[in-house]
Amino acid sequence: AKELGRDNVQFYAPELNSKNQEKFLLQEELRNALARGEFVLLYQPQVDLRSGRVFAVEALIRWQHPTLGLISPMKFIPMAEESGLIVPIGDWVLHEACRQNKAWQDAGLPPMMVCVNVSARQFKEPNLISRVVNALKDSGLEAQYLELEVTESLIMQDVDMAVAMMNELQGLGVRISIDDFGTGYSSLSALKTFPVARLKIDKSFINDLATDKNDQAVASAVISLGQKLHLRVIAEGVETDDQVEFLRRNNCDEMQGYHFSKPISAENIAELIDKVRG
Ligand code: C2E
Ligand code: CA
Ligand code: CA
Ligand code: CA
Repeated sequence: AKELGRDNVQFYAPELNSKNQEKFLLQEELRNALARGEFVLLYQPQVDLRSGRVFAVEALIRWQHPTLGLISPMKFIPMAEESGLIVPIGDWVLHEACRQNKAWQDAGLPPMMVCVNVSARQFKEPNLISRVVNALKDSGLEAQYLELEVTESLIMQDVDMAVAMMNELQGLGVRISIDDFGTGYSSLSALKTFPVARLKIDKSFINDLATDKNDQAVASAVISLGQKLHLRVIAEGVETDDQVEFLRRNNCDEMQGYHFSKPISAENIAELIDKVRG
């Protein structure tokens, strides 16, 4: 009867079935991806709006599958969260990003921060702190050159736990920034107590910044909030001259986006920094 049922599904709903099959296949493949060395990190520069200097890069993971091709993190990170695979994958990202940043420093590039995205599941792991300590120790990278990006919605899931964790990380000398800021409804009074260095304005507010009055209001409000709380503010997803112009006029500190550079390989980062230095 089971066999029959399966045949029926395949016959009447081929689309749904192939979607499920794809998901199943990806989940299976995801289990092996780490051991097979299929993940790579790209890095996207973050630029100081006043000096034009690249002071940091964000590490962004890619899955290079031998037959399925390049798979976006939007596709496999949620899957990795669901299955718990995000913990070993996130650990790899942390180690690799720290190792790479130390390698750039050893090659003579001016010291930069490397920013690593931390997902909710990783953040709730009791041994996150020791994982961070190990990544720093193994790589030899100083803590001040590592920043962790946590999303506003992650913090709001359990504010007390998040603040305790962020305090411990800050105690190590690691910086923390709030990613996707403006999308997660954190109360302004709570924000004051967060041990964070930066706010990252979500790119959904930057897309139509040149024309949308509401987005302009949100962006300029976040910028002045940051100034009042002595936090740096970075805009993500910056693509056009008009957006840069708006951010400059409103005294935003930093930007990241295709306007300056897409996420690129570690070698290309080294070349680009050399070029900017002249
Ligand atoms: P995110 O942390 O909000 O990262 C920003 C995303 O915007 C990146 O997409 C980046 O490539 C893209 N982006 C940057 N500049 C522009 C621009 O000017 N225009 C547009 N349209 N997009 C821009 P990406 O690399 O596909 O990553 C998507 C998401 O996947 C990230 O969003 C993050 O939530 C997650 N992710 C990526 N790498 C990791 C990782 O190592 N660990 C975890 N836990 N999550 C990751
Ligand atoms: Ca991010
Ligand atoms: Ca974001
Ligand atoms: Ca995001």
